[in-house]
Amino acid sequence: MRVVYTPQHLAHDIASETIMGLPVPANEVAERAERIRAALEADGGFPLQGPEAHGAEPITAVHDPGLLRFLAEAWPQARREAIDRPALIPEGFAARGYFQEMAIAHEPKAISGRAGYWALDTSTPIVAGTYAAARAAVDVALTAADLVLGGERAAYGLCRPPGHHASRSMYGGYCFFNNAAIAADWLTKRSGERVAILDVDFHHGNGTQQIFWRRDDVLYVSIHGDPDRVYPYFSGWTDERGEGSGTGTNVNVPLPAGTSDDEYLAALDRSLDAIAHFPGSLLVVSLGFDTYALDPISDFAVTTPAYHEIGRRVAALGRRLVILQEGGYHRPSLGENARAWLRGAEDREFDPLPAAGFTPAGTKV
Ligand SMILES: [Zn+2]
Repeated sequence: MRVVYTPQHLAHDIASETIMGLPVPANEVAERAERIRAALEADGGFPLQGPEAHGAEPITAVHDPGLLRFLAEAWPQARREAIDRPALIPEGFAARGYFQEMAIAHEPKAISGRAGYWALDTSTPIVAGTYAAARAAVDVALTAADLVLGGERAAYGLCRPPGHHASRSMYGGYCFFNNAAIAADWLTKRSGERVAILDVDFHHGNGTQQIFWRRDDVLYVSIHGDPDRVYPYFSGWTDERGEGSGTGTNVNVPLPAGTSDDEYLAALDRSLDAIAHFPGSLLVVSLGFDTYALDPISDFAVTTPAYHEIGRRVAALGRRLVILQEGGYHRPSLGENARAWLRGAEDREFDPLPAAGFTPAGTKV
C-alpha cells in the first residue's frame, strides 16, 4: 500500500497544551507521525511518497474562507501584536449563549479575540509552523485520494495535524483543517459517486458530522467514546442523524468505558453494515489509535491484534479505501498498531517487529 507522508508536519511543534486551565505536556506531538513512518518503513511493504500541492480551493469547498484566512494570519499577527506566549491560545470563546437569538457574529480584530472566534478549545495551540503543517496535511489527504482515484485499491495518508474535530467554521481538538472531510468532498466531485466515511478514532468526529450534516452524498459513521463522558462532549449521540436531505446519513455509535476487542468488533460490524447499504465504491477511513488500551487520554481496551482484524474487516467490505490518520497518543505502540491495521487491510499476516531503538526526527544526537 502506498503511503503519503511529508516532514512538513514537524513544523507544528507543540510542547504543551492547556486542559481545564492548566498546562500539561502536549499529546499531539511530531513523534506520533514519526513513529508510524518509521514502523511502515521498517515493514518494507509501504512505499512512501510526498504529497502534491492542491491549493486552497478544496479547503474552502468545505471550510469557511474566514477560517482559512485566520489560520494563515494568526501567528504572524500574534507576533506583530507582541503576544508574548510560546503559542496562541484563545482567551475567551464565542460560546453558544453569546449569540443566542441574535443574528450577529462579528469577528474582532485583535488576535486573542480572533482565536476565540474560530476556536473550540484551549488544547489546540497555534505556533509558527502550524499553518504550513495543516496545509500540508490536507495535501497528504488529497494525494492519497488521488492515488485511489487513479486506480490504487487503497492508500494511506499519514496526516498530522489530524482533522476530524475541525468543522466548517471552527478549529480545535488538535485539528485545523478537516483532512477527511476535504478528501471525501474531493472524492464526490472527482468520482461523481456518493462517498462513505468511517471514523474509528476514539473521539466523535464532530467536525465531519457538522460539515456533512445536511448532505445526502456523504455518509458519516462514527464509533467513539460516549460524549456523556468524554471529549468533545457536545455531539456523538445516537439521535444525531442529520437534517434535511442529509437525514439518515449520519450514524453515531457511542461505546462505554473499557470497551473490549470483541465489543468493539461487534460495533464495527454494525457500522460496516450501515456502510454496505450506502451506494458508492469509495470509503474514507478516519483512523485513530486512541482506542488502544494504553492510550493516555482515552478509555477503551482495544489491542494490537484487534487492529489487524479491524483493518481486515473494513477492507473486506470491498470498497476502495482512502485511509487517513487522526489521533492516537500512546506513542510507543503507534507504529505497530498502524502496521497491524494496514496489513490487515491488505489481508496480509501481521508479524510484530522486534522492538527497535527509535529516534524522533529533529532530535539532536
Ligand atoms: Zn481522538
